Amino acid sequence: MTSPEVLGARARVLLIPVGSLEQHGPHLPLDTDTRIAVALATAIADQRADALLAPAIAIGSSGEHEGFAGTLSIGGDVLNLVLVELVRSNRDFAHVVFVNGHGGNLDPVRRAREQLVAEGHSVIAFSPSVPGGDAHAGRTETSLLLHLDPSVVRLDLAEAGATEPLAELLPTMRTGGVRAVSPNGVLGDPTGASAEEGAELFETLVDSLGACVAAMVDQ
Ligand SMILES: [Zn+2]
Repeated sequence: MTSPEVLGARARVLLIPVGSLEQHGPHLPLDTDTRIAVALATAIADQRADALLAPAIAIGSSGEHEGFAGTLSIGGDVLNLVLVELVRSNRDFAHVVFVNGHGGNLDPVRRAREQLVAEGHSVIAFSPSVPGGDAHAGRTETSLLLHLDPSVVRLDLAEAGATEPLAELLPTMRTGGVRAVSPNGVLGDPTGASAEEGAELFETLVDSLGACVAAMVDQ
């Protein structure tokens, strides 16, 4: 869009996808989280005449994936600052929505939102969560990607990783990262993932994101 087009759109809501660039096992692309965040934010921008989509923050806080090729990270403190300064610079939108696709971003996104709300900004943060879903590059994310763009999924390379509950893995992960618990980088098991399941998951997530945005904007 051009600047006059943004002015003319008179949108009240800015959707900012927040992703990551990190290993997602042997079968999913590095930008899996960004793809999911962008797709969710795009769905809401398509639904709401009063919402516009910002370019994604495509590199996040991924220190836990250090040691796997392709991973790039700006760390939690920098991501926090990026989000805070970005919203402070906004003069065009009454409301801002962070659509976060990566668990490692949760804390900096939460801190940024808290600070911005304390400064008087209207900001919400949405992070997709799937009841019973696995944590990383497992069935949940593989299904979502099979729905969003099957051409980027190397399904023949998909294999299970560490399948213990995340709470059990976290103490080891805190010191040794994902590599210490899962040599292939997967937390979960992509077996059984399908585009159909991904479509259902995606629809549920869009509904719950849409409800969060509506609760903020339409009250
Ligand atoms: Zn992911």
